[in-house]
Amino acid sequence: MIQKKISLFFATPLPLLLLGTFLFTTACSSTKNEPFVATHPNASDKPKNIILMIGDGMGLTQISAAIYENKRPTNFERFRHIGFHKSYAAGELITDSAAGATAFACGIKTYNGAIGVNVDTIPQQSILEEAEIRGLTTGLIATAFIVHATPAAFYGHQPIRTFHEQIAADLLNVDVDFIIGGGMKYFNRRDSDDRNLYKELEDKGYTVSNYTEIPLEKIDFRSNRKIIYFTADRHPVPVSAGRNYLPFATKIAPRFLRAANDNNGFFLMVEGSQIDWAGHGNEGQLMIEETLDFDRAVGQALDFAKADGNTLVIVTADHETGGFSINQGSKKGEIQTAFTTNGHTAALVPVFAYGPGAENFKGIYENTAIYHKMRRLLDFDQAAASSQLNTRQ
Ligand code: MG
Ligand code: ZN
Repeated sequence: MIQKKISLFFATPLPLLLLGTFLFTTACSSTKNEPFVATHPNASDKPKNIILMIGDGMGLTQISAAIYENKRPTNFERFRHIGFHKSYAAGELITDSAAGATAFACGIKTYNGAIGVNVDTIPQQSILEEAEIRGLTTGLIATAFIVHATPAAFYGHQPIRTFHEQIAADLLNVDVDFIIGGGMKYFNRRDSDDRNLYKELEDKGYTVSNYTEIPLEKIDFRSNRKIIYFTADRHPVPVSAGRNYLPFATKIAPRFLRAANDNNGFFLMVEGSQIDWAGHGNEGQLMIEETLDFDRAVGQALDFAKADGNTLVIVTADHETGGFSINQGSKKGEIQTAFTTNGHTAALVPVFAYGPGAENFKGIYENTAIYHKMRRLLDFDQAAASSQLNTRQ
């Protein structure tokens, strides 16, 4: 094409020459206006680090409402690689958060209520556990208690999501380097046994602290010890009651994990847990506030990834909650919210990606594909294949 235009330039009378120049410049400027100029320059490469962000219950309408209610552009609007996933569970079109998180964490469709186990309740290695084994540093952040379904599926293996104390004990089996969330009670005041997991974590080399001892901002994150910080005894309060640690935690976690091990990269999961709960309660305004709090955390992850250059940020939800809609009479900044259910729905869920490998997340695919895409991008499949080959030799 370019060759043709150049020859046109030299061998044609003036009117045609002008026309050719016009077409040429128009073609150039329209290319410049394409949205993909803002994509990460290495969108087809492979990342060293992955930050997976899950807005629990955050469907497309929740994001739309947050965009229309916010005075400034949201961080969701910074993404250029966007797709959808099919959130359904094994045997049921409507998933819960346990099966939904197990799909991301372990790459399998399982039954609702399953934490890191398959339909036969057999434990499945999670991408976080595999990352630990392969020498990456790992982190978990949630605005629920840390033994709640979504974070639990990344380290726990239990047949029922409400086995909270067993899930807490599972956390002792995985060397997650950086943990922030609620649920201290399941560690230091247990009903099912006399174990003090708070103490056991300290004995394992963790710096363990909590909201009653020291504000999160005062912790020395430059230490090279593993860190766990409990933000509540059970669930942290909603953002409307003053909870504000999610963006801060999302800012410091990648820096901590990178400093702890700059060679092998890191895997970090961040959950905005309470978007879902506002959806269950059909509380439109709270749901928007929780979504915007999550969006501020997304902004922190994007800023880190932009400066770092080797970090892939994936933002999605496990499912939609509430059958949420934006009804007639809505104005920008004044949304008329409505719900069709107190439960989850089966609507496709958006996936946003930024950084090396981001273009792999365009299109429509299963929720389990997110696990397989992440694993392939971290070269886990390659290394596994070669180690299998090695053992065969
Ligand atoms: Mg959750
Ligand atoms: Zn829910």
